[in-house]
Amino acid sequence: MLSPSFDPKIQYKRILLKLSGEALMGGRSYGIDLPTIERMSQEIKDAHDMGVEICIVVGGGNIFRGLKGAAEGIERSTSDHMGMLATVMNSLALQSSLEYLGLEVRVMSAIPMHSICEPYIRRRAVHHMEKGRIVICAAGTGNPYFTTDSAAALRASELHCHALLKATKVDGVYSADPIKDKDAKFYEKLGYMDVLTQDLQVMDAAAISLARESKIPIIVFSILNHDALIDVVRGRGKFTVVS
Ligand code: UDP
Repeated sequence: MLSPSFDPKIQYKRILLKLSGEALMGGRSYGIDLPTIERMSQEIKDAHDMGVEICIVVGGGNIFRGLKGAAEGIERSTSDHMGMLATVMNSLALQSSLEYLGLEVRVMSAIPMHSICEPYIRRRAVHHMEKGRIVICAAGTGNPYFTTDSAAALRASELHCHALLKATKVDGVYSADPIKDKDAKFYEKLGYMDVLTQDLQVMDAAAISLARESKIPIIVFSILNHDALIDVVRGRGKFTVVS
């Protein structure tokens, strides 16, 4: 059912937005930058006000990465559990900021923690979105040895999202790092297999493979650009589509 405010210019009615932990850091070198989260929350609200159903997967790399902890001697699964807890902290910060703007939000964690948020239940998540609530999927897939990119592809698949929006600090996918290489080629469109065979740094291979199997387009765009999210859901502006 379309929400009453549904804007006919919208290309994707239900989106999964993947925000990396890094995106929440703003200019800091660690942790959460509240002004950055507030700015993103406003963009999310603007897209929501257009009638887009939104679920969000938040990373945790701004606080803790499992691989780094493991390299320093923490048992890998334990270290990944710590990484997943970091995503819950980010999710709660984002929830608070979105609620401040008057939105209804539910954090749903893949690792049950009843006194803090809801457990992730697929049918409930769909119900929340249909009711106009924003769903934040926390704790990744709930399993070690995975990433929040894989969690994003997984949730986008099972929640039947029309697109997976990967927010980054660059405005799409290039053949090389555009900051270091002036001749780096910008790709407007790519196939899933192009990303895998050319090892382009879009998302990890497990995430790309799952998105390919589920036929969900991945849209890589810069979260730093003003109104970027609205532009993407309307199919305008600069971004790369992997499909
Ligand atoms: N993680 C995990 N399983 C998952 C998702 C995440 O074990 O399904 C852990 C992993 O240790 C990872 C950390 O959580 O390093 C933070 O997630 P990620 O690195 O994907 O965050 P991002 O790079 O998006 O900030």
